[in-house]
Amino acid sequence: MERLDARVCYRALETRDARFDGRLFVGVTSTGIYCRPICPARTPKFENCRFYPSAAAAQEAGFRPCLRCRPETAPEIGAWRGTSNTVSRALALIAEGALDGDDASVDRLAERLGIGERQLRRLFKQHLGASPIAVAQTRRVLFAKQLIHDTQLAMVEIALAAGFGSVRRFNETFRQLFQRPPSALGRRPVAAAAGGMVSASATGVTVRLRYRPPYDWPAMLSFLAARAVEGVERVEGDLYRRTVNQDGLLGTVEVGHAPERSSLVATIRFPSVGALAGIVARIRRVFDLDADVALIGAHLAQDPLLGPLVAARPGLRAPGGWDGFELACRAVLGQQVSVEAARRLAGQLVRLCGSKLPADQLADPALPLAFPTAQQVMAADLAPLGMPGARKAALQTVARAALADPHLFQPLATVEATVARLRAIPGIGEWTAHYIALRAVREADAFPASDIGLLRGAAGGTGLRPSPAELRGRAEPWRPWRAYAAQHLWAADAGAPEGRR
Ligand SMILES: [Zn+2]
Repeated sequence: MERLDARVCYRALETRDARFDGRLFVGVTSTGIYCRPICPARTPKFENCRFYPSAAAAQEAGFRPCLRCRPETAPEIGAWRGTSNTVSRALALIAEGALDGDDASVDRLAERLGIGERQLRRLFKQHLGASPIAVAQTRRVLFAKQLIHDTQLAMVEIALAAGFGSVRRFNETFRQLFQRPPSALGRRPVAAAAGGMVSASATGVTVRLRYRPPYDWPAMLSFLAARAVEGVERVEGDLYRRTVNQDGLLGTVEVGHAPERSSLVATIRFPSVGALAGIVARIRRVFDLDADVALIGAHLAQDPLLGPLVAARPGLRAPGGWDGFELACRAVLGQQVSVEAARRLAGQLVRLCGSKLPADQLADPALPLAFPTAQQVMAADLAPLGMPGARKAALQTVARAALADPHLFQPLATVEATVARLRAIPGIGEWTAHYIALRAVREADAFPASDIGLLRGAAGGTGLRPSPAELRGRAEPWRPWRAYAAQHLWAADAGAPEGRR
């Protein structure tokens, strides 16, 4: 996608080809508007079309987002930029706010990715057609636009939620971009808003989060259900619910599926709207919304072992962790024991040192607790936990490491570097490091080759289980998406819940 072939792009536009949604944006010179390829409006003339690989590039070129197809609701495709893992990593960090706030800089972002600032700018130009700052700004504007359309939040809350430093800057940016104030942006009339933070915490804010189909929702839900930590999360019917601890404040999220709109629907109840963008980023991560599984599947299906598995589950996703530290704890608790045993241990840990939700945040009586923070685990007496002393020590070592390095669970330049950093923590071996890299860091190429479930899955009914080294060698052609291969092997191994994962 480095160079967009205008004729191919135009054909996608003429046919409203959904496969291009999120990876192609069309600026129309006669109107100054940019659209998604699926826009219901009449197809513009070829000579009036300019094609861009990202919304940010279209905005940087001076186009305004279309009010009909709403580019802010296009799926966010991260994994498909497989030719540049660095860009995917940078996008993930930007989604988590790496370029928000006054002290944020592209320099520091590049440093975290292990490359120079100029190289990062060059990669962004090449793959997205826009600078990192423009991408971050476009994200903020489009997120705000979505909140204006979809929620009842007051404008001041939306400015905060979308990461604008002030309402003034929010208004300025909008006027510049849309030639009208945000309040005039086609919003349904709302009865005088209750104002304050009440709206976000009491009734909740509901947002639609788009993905590119296919999406195997039942597989995602049963993966989460099998690991749901009592008191913190649960699956009820077709809904996933969990408690949230963000910067010391507590709340809940509820996530359901709207397949007819290729979306998840998330309701967030939280006392501070400033946390909204961060919580949405976490939901996208847990539910792996930004992966182009069709593209990944096409790559993996070339392998004779994986081909039938991909055909059987084309929409399978790689579930992420809600929080890096939480996932690392779960990985340590899961060493050498079954998924079910790990789940019970996590429940014990939560009862030992997790925070209680205040009564006014208690949306589901079955979910009264938040997963403990690193500080809480450090300070807790873990003696009552029913597991070996070495592993209790490992939990507290992980907590210390997480406190010492706030970026511990964010990606480095390569999966090898990410794994090496995790392995430097005493008590974190190869399997645990890869498992954390896969689920918490969202390394699409992580692969815990010694996992018993993977080895069983790779036997493929032949009963001939490979050794971890053999499986690692076997998996070489699956790069850079070994995490998805792992997910398929685990799914193939279903019905064997005693795998240590
Ligand atoms: Zn449009």
